[in-house]
Amino acid sequence: MSGDKKGKVWLVGAGPSDSGLFTLKGKYLLERADVVVCDKLIGRGVMAMIPDQAEIIYVGKTAGHHTVPQREINRILLEQALAGKRVVRLKGGDPFVFGRGGEELELLAEEGIPFEIVPGITSAVAVPAYNGIPVTHRDCCSALHIITGHRKASEEEEIDYEALVRAGGTMVFLMGVTAMGKICGGLLKAGMDKDTPAAILERGTTAHQRRVVSTVGKLPADSEKEGIKPPAVIIVGEVCALAERFHWAEDRPLGKMKIAVTRPRDRSSTLAEKLAELGAEVVLLPSVATQPFRENKRLREALDHTDNYRWIVFTSPVGVKTFFRTMKEMGKDIRSLAGISFGVIGEGTKKAVEEKGILVELMPEVYSGKALGELLARTVSKEERILIPRAAAGTEDVIIPLRKEGIAFDDIPVYDTLEGADSRGALWDETMDMAVFTSASTVRGFVKMNPQADFSSIRAVCIGEQTAAAARQQGMKVEISDKATIDSLVDKIREIAG
Ligand code: SAH
Repeated sequence: MSGDKKGKVWLVGAGPSDSGLFTLKGKYLLERADVVVCDKLIGRGVMAMIPDQAEIIYVGKTAGHHTVPQREINRILLEQALAGKRVVRLKGGDPFVFGRGGEELELLAEEGIPFEIVPGITSAVAVPAYNGIPVTHRDCCSALHIITGHRKASEEEEIDYEALVRAGGTMVFLMGVTAMGKICGGLLKAGMDKDTPAAILERGTTAHQRRVVSTVGKLPADSEKEGIKPPAVIIVGEVCALAERFHWAEDRPLGKMKIAVTRPRDRSSTLAEKLAELGAEVVLLPSVATQPFRENKRLREALDHTDNYRWIVFTSPVGVKTFFRTMKEMGKDIRSLAGISFGVIGEGTKKAVEEKGILVELMPEVYSGKALGELLARTVSKEERILIPRAAAGTEDVIIPLRKEGIAFDDIPVYDTLEGADSRGALWDETMDMAVFTSASTVRGFVKMNPQADFSSIRAVCIGEQTAAAARQQGMKVEISDKATIDSLVDKIREIAG
């Protein structure tokens, strides 16, 4: 390739884990990346922002064990940039806080590859914050030290504990779990009071974060008793005592819950947002994907004769999207729908219709095909005709009441529902506390995508009887929301969380 189309590398900090702590600039770049080169400790929520078409190269490092040597990582970055790619090098926390970010720039700088650096929120500050520990506070401290606890065996250079103790202030040790005894011992030997508050904070900013608040004298024993494992941050200083008053993250209604949401990607946001706002760690496991029909003769015919219809009824946002895209392809706009009334199955679909500049006149109280069908049967008169553009595998529930009442309708499939087809979704694992299902197809898709899972151990929270039946069939522990609405589903999850 000629030299004029050089790519570029963005060294991006992904934050400590909670995807809400990822920067806007980082997200913008990730969504436009050709290649993403990433480490192990990247939160799943951030990983889920990587677009389908981007290539992901894992160079995962775990403490002390470098899967891919630094030299090789540098070479990968160079090679991808030279191939003209937009490369995002994604690193946990901040790339320059014990992240070897600088080393990765050396080769790029040498070769004249353009790069940018996007700082991230470092775990050194965020993990204490999520545990109610401000790293500096009023009279407590005039200094904040961030120190690595992990020394290579070959490195003789020791931490200068005496200098640290003399300087005072808050000390945050990263990569310090295995060296904990040495760190606390070093501080005590340098003259630190053994009763100085100290804490270890495990898996900070996740639903399963844990904290042990103790003193420098007792922390190693207390931490071991609790079985604290990496990743964890050790923090030493008066500020640790504030956790008792300021803890908050785990106190939110769903603060201890890691929840898998299985809705299709394009529909998961309302549910996911509501759960996240209540403090849950949400993992997206989209278990079905929708695929609009490319050619749709029946829909085109219907659109050529819109005056046949008095009603158009949608049962999903994808249906709305596909309908209007076909209209546009045919050179039509909403003026050709004048005089037609619109019905929808629920809030999400209503929003999609209203975004087209059309007001919705009919929506059932509960989100279900049956309720929609019954409402239509009561509302629409026998002289009127309904157009229903919807999923090929749509439930009969919507149309049974119409048939019964002798109401004329055209049920036109406009997209397929592919179960278990989303390749970029995360997989189920035992760290998740529950899975939420909003249709029987999401249960089937989930089962297809997670053949390794022990379904009998999965707590499934379901909307509606049909969904619950599909989950029960797999032996899952099933709970059903009282009503077929997203809000009721969220209420049920809160109730389970206790
Ligand atoms: N560049 C990263 C730090 C890399 S070193 C940053 O700015 O955060 C890796 C160390 O960071 C881990 O050993 C641990 O001490 C800390 N760490 C990263 N994520 C963490 C988390 N979610 N909870 C607790 N500690 C974390």
